[in-house]
Amino acid sequence: MNENKLIADLLLPDINTSPDYYENIYPKRDLPKGAMVTRFAPSPTGFLHLGSLFAAFIYERLAHQSGGTFYLRIEDTDKKREVQGSTSEIIRGLKTYNISFDEDAGYGPHIQSQRETIYKTYVKFLLEKGLAYPCFCTLEELEELRKLQEDKKVNTGYYGPWAKHRNITLEEVKQDLIEGKNYVIRLKSPGSPDKRIVFNDLIKGTIEMPENIQDIVILKTDGLPTYHFAHAVDDHLMRTTHVVRGEEWLSSTPIHLQLFDVLGFERPKYAHIPTLMKMDGTSKRKLSKRKDPELAFSFYEEEGYLPNAVIEYLLHIINSNYEDWRKENPLSPYTDFKIDINKISATGAIFDLNKLTAISKDIIALMKSSDIYELYLNWCERYDTEMAAFLKADSNYCIQIFNIERNSEKPRKDIGKWSDVREDIFFFYDDLYYSKNGDYNFPKALSKYDIQEILSGYINVYCESDNKETWFNKLKAFGETLGYCSSVKNFKKNPSAYKGHIGDVAMILRIALTKKTATPDLYEMIKVLGTERLKERLSFASRLI
Ligand code: GLU
Repeated sequence: MNENKLIADLLLPDINTSPDYYENIYPKRDLPKGAMVTRFAPSPTGFLHLGSLFAAFIYERLAHQSGGTFYLRIEDTDKKREVQGSTSEIIRGLKTYNISFDEDAGYGPHIQSQRETIYKTYVKFLLEKGLAYPCFCTLEELEELRKLQEDKKVNTGYYGPWAKHRNITLEEVKQDLIEGKNYVIRLKSPGSPDKRIVFNDLIKGTIEMPENIQDIVILKTDGLPTYHFAHAVDDHLMRTTHVVRGEEWLSSTPIHLQLFDVLGFERPKYAHIPTLMKMDGTSKRKLSKRKDPELAFSFYEEEGYLPNAVIEYLLHIINSNYEDWRKENPLSPYTDFKIDINKISATGAIFDLNKLTAISKDIIALMKSSDIYELYLNWCERYDTEMAAFLKADSNYCIQIFNIERNSEKPRKDIGKWSDVREDIFFFYDDLYYSKNGDYNFPKALSKYDIQEILSGYINVYCESDNKETWFNKLKAFGETLGYCSSVKNFKKNPSAYKGHIGDVAMILRIALTKKTATPDLYEMIKVLGTERLKERLSFASRLI
């Protein structure tokens, strides 16, 4: 019997399956032409961040928009780094953004630690063919090798003439096993140092790199595969058509292509998506866990961003033509837009929180007040229980608040995220209005007496049944009796003739009623507050100054 086969049997005696077996039970998928099979393959070593969402969303869209399959594969071969609960958190998190996986029956298991026999079958196949071998080097030996290579100024690593166990014999294997030495299995790389590999990346274009010559580890001491090997075996058997993944894997692609070739697998198509970046002054940098809270997945939930606003913004980043499409199709679901993989920017994609907020404001501006109420209440129940209680005590009142300047041609674009709403509407609630610290920020140009005169006088002017025009005319007339010009234009022609203009009168009322200088339309706001509150607040403010 040939020596390679004997080594394979000695190392993996329990493996009796052959690659053909798996080739048959995981046949090519029966999908329409052009359908893409993509996957999201997280390592359960932490929780989701914005980069994972960006990536998963692209994979999901590419698969589903083409009538293909999008599946989840848990890459848990690094048992030491595993974090309990992260898989369910990933699934829950993505579901919030409407990203869900296909069941993918027939191609599992989709958890790598449950696929040990499959990997070992392919490892045994390579051992038998002499395309892989056991390596008994200790970490110290590898460290010595590295030092020696550095001294000699040659490339470091386990390759070619430096690969000590490349031609290990059956007798040596037996001896090392008797001595109880640990081993890994390495690929006997067929690569050559003077050859280059050229491949097409669907996002990055044509890529040329040196061929892989390293005898990389394919099976670790613990019997589980490395990322490289598991990628080749899984993406082949799970019949992934497009390996779409983060660009940090681009440099390893020569290894992967080599593995597909030695294993006799058809190569998949590759697309490496850019890392999310942000502008820092005039330069770009990667979003960082330490510096950028917006990288954390939880940030969006806590700040109260609508998931569809985040998705909408990600689409702007993914394909720059999305913006035009959205203008032409303002009411269509985003799923009607087809992501063009070739149009994804090949270099870092810039993420800008201000743009997200602006997009979110556009979306919320078009929503019904009752829907805003529901969503805001939902958020408050988790993050602002005091506000939630106010909202629930009188839902109609709150819906009226959200209705201010909403049903017009140009609805007010004031809400970008739920955590900002309290500051916008607190004054509608007496408890919050009266407990708000700080003075009224009245304009310094008017005296205390002038202000009091406006506040106490207006109590007798306001009439709830007035329409907007009558209300405004009365306000102007009231201002005039106190010496304020009813037209800003006329005031500007001769300012010294007046105490101020109508805008000043309105501002005094606005500040007294809300403790803010910028608010929605005064007339509409007073209508919601009601006559009682108006009177109470004007006299309260007048007493306080
Ligand atoms: N488990 C790898 C990671 O989390 C997956 C990379 C891939 O998509 O192939 O980075």
